[in-house]
Amino acid sequence: MAVLERFERMPTEKTMQQLIDGYSRFRSKVYPQHSKLFEKLAKGQQPHTLFISCADSRVMPEMITQCDPGSIFSCRNAGNLIPPPTEVGSGVPATIEYAIRVLKVTDIVVCGHSDCGAMKGILKMESLESLPVVRGWLEHAGPSARWLTRMLKNTTSMSFEETLAVVTEANIIVQMQNLRMHPSVDEALRQGTLKLHGWVYDIGSGTVRQLDSERGEFQPLIPEILPAEHSHAKQEQKIA
Ligand code: ZN
Repeated sequence: MAVLERFERMPTEKTMQQLIDGYSRFRSKVYPQHSKLFEKLAKGQQPHTLFISCADSRVMPEMITQCDPGSIFSCRNAGNLIPPPTEVGSGVPATIEYAIRVLKVTDIVVCGHSDCGAMKGILKMESLESLPVVRGWLEHAGPSARWLTRMLKNTTSMSFEETLAVVTEANIIVQMQNLRMHPSVDEALRQGTLKLHGWVYDIGSGTVRQLDSERGEFQPLIPEILPAEHSHAKQEQKIA
């Protein structure tokens, strides 16, 4: 997937051609290999997980978890934010309610990521002057995040990158708290039919750390695969 290594912006006409070429590959190679799955999925979905993540193009839930279509119910927005249940305009509360009460997902993952533009925006609200809608949306990061941001601004020992990492992790915790305010979530948690998970994805290393609520820190989701072990695995793995 060479596209991942490209950084320069391609001309508009090439952008559409890339999408059409990709669709062509999907029709000729991918669909025929998985046609049984697609035929089954045509009759309905039974995703097990609601995955709330940033709209960032580098965060791809199905790729990171290697899940097939039909497994993950996605909710994506700038900053993986979860407004309160009363804020219906964004569609996030409706997505949560549907995932729990209709699809009966057993797990919700709130996934933040490194180099998040929304988190940078929270740290530098003045940079959002020409983006009033984004600014308004980021207010959903909530009072806790604003308090934390103010506190961090007063600590001069941390670099911008370090502060960004702290705010990104804090945002996941705040959004998980917001999630619990939703009646459907509260109900499912009390019935023991739902578990919440906080993840942070590091784009450069492709690693995920998970919130350990007891210890109050993010720990590797799985023990790291050693490079030596990795080199023995010669066969090419699918990327998505
Ligand atoms: Zn982001």
